[in-house]
Amino acid sequence: MKKKKILVLTGAGVSAESGVKTFRDHGGLWEGIDPMVVASIGGWEKTPEKVLEFYNMRKNELKNASPNAAHIAIAEMEKDFDVTVVTQNVDDLHEKAGSTNIIHLHGTLTLTKEEDRSEERYPYIDDLKIGSVGRNGSQLRPDIVWFGENLDLMDIQKTRMAAEEADVCIVVGTSMQVSPANSVPWMTPELSLIYYIDPGEQDFHVPKFRMRGGFFTHVKKKASEGLPEVVEELKRIYLK
Ligand code: NAD
Repeated sequence: MKKKKILVLTGAGVSAESGVKTFRDHGGLWEGIDPMVVASIGGWEKTPEKVLEFYNMRKNELKNASPNAAHIAIAEMEKDFDVTVVTQNVDDLHEKAGSTNIIHLHGTLTLTKEEDRSEERYPYIDDLKIGSVGRNGSQLRPDIVWFGENLDLMDIQKTRMAAEEADVCIVVGTSMQVSPANSVPWMTPELSLIYYIDPGEQDFHVPKFRMRGGFFTHVKKKASEGLPEVVEELKRIYLK
């Protein structure tokens, strides 16, 4: 039997229990730090050293971070389902957990690229400094999509295709504030099941027909608890 297709859209909350801070929560990264200074193309043009300092810290924090039960449950779903992970996260915890089909919409902290040559990628191992250059002699920067930059077109196309074919969409640990990632669940077919796993309030708009048909469920739990529960439910629905 053909495996059911599941699209998992993840945000910073899925990594919170691995000790990686979210952005917008109380105690999150944006408390006391202006995202426009450290995570925007304008910030890079004005004070690149602040940007590099911010991302060097983020990259170094990842060395000690391990996947939690949610990342592992997502990876293990591949035994029974055809899974595409679309993540807004720049950490590598889905990779560490063993997921094999991952789209990093906002880039990744594991790679760098030259500011004038965007094709080639280098591993992000040593801290970047002003004056760190790649093979073409251009300044290296993290391979992150900053505010004010466009997402990779291929990533958008692959995400759209996965969404349009999804039988189920699991949205986990995202405030759904960042566009266009927050439109991904609504690209799925009308009869797809959508689960939103997040301990916070659901304060984004859900199309009426999704609510009325009972196709949208808010699982108001932390990712490590909610994700394994949803996986068990999907196994009951589709595998028995
Ligand atoms: P966000 O900070 O806006 O929202 C985090 C969400 O996670 C909130 O809705 C919160 O209620 C929820 N949450 C907190 N703890 C949780 C838990 N234990 N389980 C489940 N949910 C939990 O994050 P976002 O929506 O991903 O915002 C998008 C931006 O944040 C992206 O651009 C992304 O690159 C960036 N970001 C990534 C990382 C990372 O790579 N781990 C960390 C911080 C921010």
